[in-house]
Amino acid sequence: MSNYEDIFKKVVSHSKEYGYVFQSSEIYDGLAAAYDYGPNGVELKNNIKNYWWKSMVNMHENIVGLDSSIFMHPTTWKASGHIDAFNDPLVDNKDSKKRYRADVLIEDHIAKIEAKIEKDVLKAAKRFGEAFNKEEFLATNGRILDRQKQIDAINEKMNTSLSSNNLEKVKELIEELDIKCPVSGTNNWTDVRQFNLMFKTQMGATADGSSDLYLRPETAQGIFVNFLNVQKTARMKIPFGIAQIGKAFRNEIVARQFIFRMREFEQMEMQFFVRPGEEMKWYAYWKDFRMKWHNSLGMGEDNYRFHDHENLAHYANAATDIEFKFPFGFKELEGIHSRTDFDLKAHQEHSAKKLQYFDPELGESYVPYVVETSIGLDRMFLSVLSNSFREEELENGESRVVLKIPAVLAPIKAAILPLTKKDGMPEKAREIMKILQLDFNCQYEEKDSIGKRYRRQDAIGTPFCITVDHQTLEDNTVTLRDRDTMIQERVSVEKLHSIIAGKVNITKYLA
Ligand code: ATP
Repeated sequence: MSNYEDIFKKVVSHSKEYGYVFQSSEIYDGLAAAYDYGPNGVELKNNIKNYWWKSMVNMHENIVGLDSSIFMHPTTWKASGHIDAFNDPLVDNKDSKKRYRADVLIEDHIAKIEAKIEKDVLKAAKRFGEAFNKEEFLATNGRILDRQKQIDAINEKMNTSLSSNNLEKVKELIEELDIKCPVSGTNNWTDVRQFNLMFKTQMGATADGSSDLYLRPETAQGIFVNFLNVQKTARMKIPFGIAQIGKAFRNEIVARQFIFRMREFEQMEMQFFVRPGEEMKWYAYWKDFRMKWHNSLGMGEDNYRFHDHENLAHYANAATDIEFKFPFGFKELEGIHSRTDFDLKAHQEHSAKKLQYFDPELGESYVPYVVETSIGLDRMFLSVLSNSFREEELENGESRVVLKIPAVLAPIKAAILPLTKKDGMPEKAREIMKILQLDFNCQYEEKDSIGKRYRRQDAIGTPFCITVDHQTLEDNTVTLRDRDTMIQERVSVEKLHSIIAGKVNITKYLA
């Protein structure tokens, strides 16, 4: 088992043990790719939502929110192209009977070549020491250039066959690269087929086919069909945006890697409506803005990168992913897409209702163009959790597991711990809790030794521990322990609020 797999396994079991994520319906042996968020998980999730909403909606005068229903009129999905084209190419291995996404098999193959490049770089860096220049090495080393050429050729072939829907060519590529099933180890593949990812259900009791519904595969369409309702009632002028956080459902062919790919998940999406012809300017703006948002959390700028799409979806004229370095490699965390006027025009045609905006400055009406930012809340959650998980050796020879979650996102901001259960300490601790709990999520804990309680709070990711002892009763001071440095200092109770606020408040991050 590689080190990365090992860490990922530990993150998954840690998140269960400390009430972050549980397998759905676990007592019935679980349901594949469905997960439940426990007491700490729901707090972290809410904090991520709030961090996004504040930045996208509250900090932008020209962006407003929406909460549209999951069920939509079935024609929505005809218009959006999801009924005809929301497909993934799947392929089965005849020996293991395992099913894969053909494009993911090929991308995993590319990732292996990328890993070899990374290994070469590490080796060279060791050999050349201080004198090593990574950019120059990547641009001139023969072996690396060959590997890069290989990657480009594979990408080119995959993208042209996928965008022309030539599934035979996709299979040929899998065979040409001699990609083997990780389970059976053979390259005995079926033909590649398209598989629609939408879940179907029925509304009402009629047997009539017209009541067939789909669970929405993205929240965006709820925004498009409400475009004029929102524009008129909120009196918005172009450019403006509509933001929404909500559930989406996709019958993923292979759902794996924990909450990275689920069949029921949550999206945080914002559709930004602009003048035709100005979409590339706004596409560049949102690319930059969203990357800054990620970096504001301080989880390491090297852990993010853009991946521009060559194989564009049917609705887009430009698209990029913000990828994050998960324990299993760089993978998509957020998509930024220039969706043109595809969706609004399609809904206009299918509904026979005008979805146009009268631009007072230009003195004309048009169907706006759209730039979208779309991030998976659960993937964001996984990026935070996996990035903050640390096993540390301490100076005294002990070790600890700590979640170094950005303090603004931490589920519990401060734990309040009476040293013992007697002498009025619990009462004093609860008094302090009362002062803090309206502004900060706090936890009161009196069981076990103080050392054990510190470890438990480290494992949850609580930025501060406040210990109430005999001295507290005399001079109103407490011991304040910092999660990351483990430094303990004596501070007066009156100062607690401002010290905690100084570290955990959103203004420290987004201002
Ligand atoms: P992928 O290529 O990983 O299937 P996608 O390109 O289809 O993702 P989008 O349609 O752009 O994804 O959706 C926007 C965001 O929603 C993604 O960046 C991702 O964070 C999230 N997302 C998409 N599918 C899932 C899923 N099955 N489980 C969890 N999050 C998802």
